[in-house]
Amino acid sequence: MYCPKCGTADQLPETYCRRCGIFLPDLDNPKRKAQTPMQNVNANAVLSAMTVVTCLTLAVLLYVILGFQDDTHPLIYATGGLLIAMAAWHVQTFWRSMLLRKQLKKPRAPADRSVDTPEPKMPAETALPAANFEDIVPPSVTDRTTRQLDDDKILAKSKQ
Ligand SMILES: [Zn+2]
Repeated sequence: MYCPKCGTADQLPETYCRRCGIFLPDLDNPKRKAQTPMQNVNANAVLSAMTVVTCLTLAVLLYVILGFQDDTHPLIYATGGLLIAMAAWHVQTFWRSMLLRKQLKKPRAPADRSVDTPEPKMPAETALPAANFEDIVPPSVTDRTTRQLDDDKILAKSKQ
């Protein structure tokens, strides 16, 4: 491939340009798509199910072939017990994956806005003091100035 910056030929993708040093990404093989949570949960469930089957099969084989004989070593029973415990553990993991799947499938409820901005419980009369019209803020300086300018204009005109 050619370097897109300096044009040097015979470059390997996923390396740096030999001439100008920029990174040359492999455009034919774009980054693999990130897995969704659902895909991860499904993969987890499948692996758990496979572990359960494998552990139980091995435990049964162990007991059938080597167990319950006069010279059976106690470690055989211990190993079988461990396999059964692992199977039980993964049954639980599988069950949790199923619960998670159900939660992921459920469409998300629209955001409840009343939770974010609760309505004021207080009635308006007690929340705000009553309007007092005797204590009005005087008009702004600009307002007065403009009015004065208008007055000055009128005065000037009348003088003419
Ligand atoms: Zn280059």
